[in-house]
Amino acid sequence: MKRKLIFFTVFLILGINLLSFRNEKKTTDNQSATTLAGKKEWAIVIHGGAGGMTRENTTPEIDKEYRASLLVALSAGKKILADGGSALDAVEQTIRTMEDNPLFNAGKGAVFTHEGKNELDAAIMDGSNLAAGSVACVTDIKNPITAARRVMTNSPHVMLSGAGASQFAKEQGLEIVPPSYFYTEKQFNALQEMLKKEKNGTVGCCALDKNGNLAAGTSTGGMTNKRYNRIGDSPIIGAGTYANNSTCAVSGTGHGEYFIRWTVAHDISALMEYKGLTLREASELVVNDKLVKAGGSGGVICVDKAGNVSMPFNSSGMFRGFATSDGKEGIFIYKDEVVR
Ligand code: ASP
Repeated sequence: MKRKLIFFTVFLILGINLLSFRNEKKTTDNQSATTLAGKKEWAIVIHGGAGGMTRENTTPEIDKEYRASLLVALSAGKKILADGGSALDAVEQTIRTMEDNPLFNAGKGAVFTHEGKNELDAAIMDGSNLAAGSVACVTDIKNPITAARRVMTNSPHVMLSGAGASQFAKEQGLEIVPPSYFYTEKQFNALQEMLKKEKNGTVGCCALDKNGNLAAGTSTGGMTNKRYNRIGDSPIIGAGTYANNSTCAVSGTGHGEYFIRWTVAHDISALMEYKGLTLREASELVVNDKLVKAGGSGGVICVDKAGNVSMPFNSSGMFRGFATSDGKEGIFIYKDEVVR
């Protein structure tokens, strides 16, 4: 009887242990299921500038042209990520397609300074190690985003500007073009129009790759009618561009002077890091509350380490698009278009 009791007790203890182990295992699985809920293998988000576009003031042709160009850019980055390429490669290549497209205010389509010249800014950041590179006020580098990446990887600096940046790009064997390459009639005419009123536009890309690395990049001609040698937020790390694997990757577009003083891109990351906000909460707070109260118009695109994407803006429109490994994808321009 006594032996039976001991047997029974041992059996009971073993059973309880086994059960609790199973429970523990289950909790762990559940926990990771919650944290990783909706975790995407890769994600990409792009913008082609925020501004005053509405359904009413945009012709069907312009609408179609922008959507097609955004799709070309998105597809370039998407392919790199789906094939297992790095977030940095996806960001650089996606932005290059937009720099080569005269439709966007970056590279070939850059806007004009007050004096009728083109001065370009760009930045790129690697969220895995906080390495960053940028160029500002460059006049003859065909793809400033690639120059920015070379500053990051092949120089001891973060930011190079003007003639020094050009000299560096030449040494790096990058394609140099005569400043007249950036002349487009559309933007020159826009300058004439803008001499009456201000206008902006820019391109950016953020990506999460299969290795869990985040990257962000932004490239721009700046703001039409800007003073010569004016530098905007795009090439300033933490203002228009920021990436950190522990939080998110951000690229901004809008009135740079506000993005610089409100350190917009880093603010979104900091709200996630220090206050535990989600990507959506942090980006909405900065763009649709803090910036609005400050009077700064524009928007951001961002992606977090789980592949969640957010694209808030406080202007009437923002050229934007995203794609994620779970098959979700979309291109948008106006405010009333929502992500499903
Ligand atoms: N943020 C850019 C700048 O201020 C312009 C833009 O995004 O439209 O240079």
